[in-house]
Amino acid sequence: MMNPADFLAVEDQLGAHNYKPIDVVLSRGRGVWLWDVEGKQYLDCLSAYSAVNQGHCHPKILRAMTEQAGRLTLTSRAFRNDQLALFYEEIAALTGSHKVLPMNSGAEAVESAIKAVRKWGYEVKGVPENKAEIIVCHQNFHGRTLGVVGFSTDPEARGGFGPFAPGFKVVPFGDAKAFEAALTENTVAFLVEPIQGEAGVIIPPAGYFPRVRELCTAHNVTLILDEIQTGLGRTGKLLAEQHEGIEADVTLVGKALSGGFYPVSAVLSNSDVLGVLKPGQHGSTFGGNPLACAIARAALRVLVEEGMIENAAKMGARFKAGLESIRSNAVREVRGRGLMLAVELHPEAGGARRYCEALKGRGVLAKDTHSHSIRIAPPLVITEEEVDWVLEQFDAVLTGRDPCGS
Ligand SMILES: *Cc1c(COP(=O)(O)O)cnc(C)c1O
Repeated sequence: MMNPADFLAVEDQLGAHNYKPIDVVLSRGRGVWLWDVEGKQYLDCLSAYSAVNQGHCHPKILRAMTEQAGRLTLTSRAFRNDQLALFYEEIAALTGSHKVLPMNSGAEAVESAIKAVRKWGYEVKGVPENKAEIIVCHQNFHGRTLGVVGFSTDPEARGGFGPFAPGFKVVPFGDAKAFEAALTENTVAFLVEPIQGEAGVIIPPAGYFPRVRELCTAHNVTLILDEIQTGLGRTGKLLAEQHEGIEADVTLVGKALSGGFYPVSAVLSNSDVLGVLKPGQHGSTFGGNPLACAIARAALRVLVEEGMIENAAKMGARFKAGLESIRSNAVREVRGRGLMLAVELHPEAGGARRYCEALKGRGVLAKDTHSHSIRIAPPLVITEEEVDWVLEQFDAVLTGRDPCGS
């Protein structure tokens, strides 16, 4: 395979068409930078949907991975391994959780939390059999498995995949009154993203989460925060819940838990929810394997030791201020927290995709979301100079000096 067109042709012919990628064929990455097969360099403003918060091919995570891969990769949970307990200790200490359930993909962590919280509802809360209700939000994104798309409100995500599992109620995001009105005695959990990522980086109004927390406590409802995208430093705090001054009962992490090396996710619980799972009731062949644990331990360590979370707060503020100072008729709003940012364009601007194509022409890889927003989420190791350089490229593209990325 020689030139980019060959890769596209083969992918087109042999691959399922469930993605419409921006046409760049990447072959190498380091820190915030990516290189394509022809050697052209790009600054990554997506970080694989925040899975690469620590930067591409972080040398310390790489070392942990290769060392562990040469020693022991998988035992299954039929036996114990010498990495799992260390992973439990480190993630529990860092996040203040009491119980940890290791899984692989983010969607699996979501599914696992749903199973656990339903069982908790029956065994601890006393909900009648098969009556458990879980409240979720309009425009939620929690992954792509059948259980999860069943309570999506995106016609693209759910259309044609039914029938779906019952037991979910949808309320508007950011509206505590609507949440309160949806509560019943059979409500076992509220599953929600602290900031809605795929919906376009939607930040709820101040006071929403504190009120939700109060209501969950008052009604004995488990608050499950899906921090798979917002967590692990992305928003300038270890967990986005810290911006709200609340603590979830169950926190879901994934993506950057491996720094992008390997799928690793976890359900973290500081209540008795995970305690209901007994041997044989849930599992995963790969969940908690020694390779995943060694990678996750290194990924968490560098996040803290190298000051990436503080850097995300600082660089995020600089990036947001820079975006806000761009005078462009195309821009409707700049949103975000830390390095989880989005530029929403006016509908007349012609869609975010063509701006992303133009940015690609100028060496910046960003992704459109919900057709009118450009999502910006570079690795947390980005420097001031790099932020300023990316801002120049955004300025050029958004002010129409170079709308087509000539
Ligand atoms: C990406 C994501 C998921 C799903 O993670 P996968 O690893 O793709 O299964 C779930 N929730 C949120 C908020 C996400 O951003």
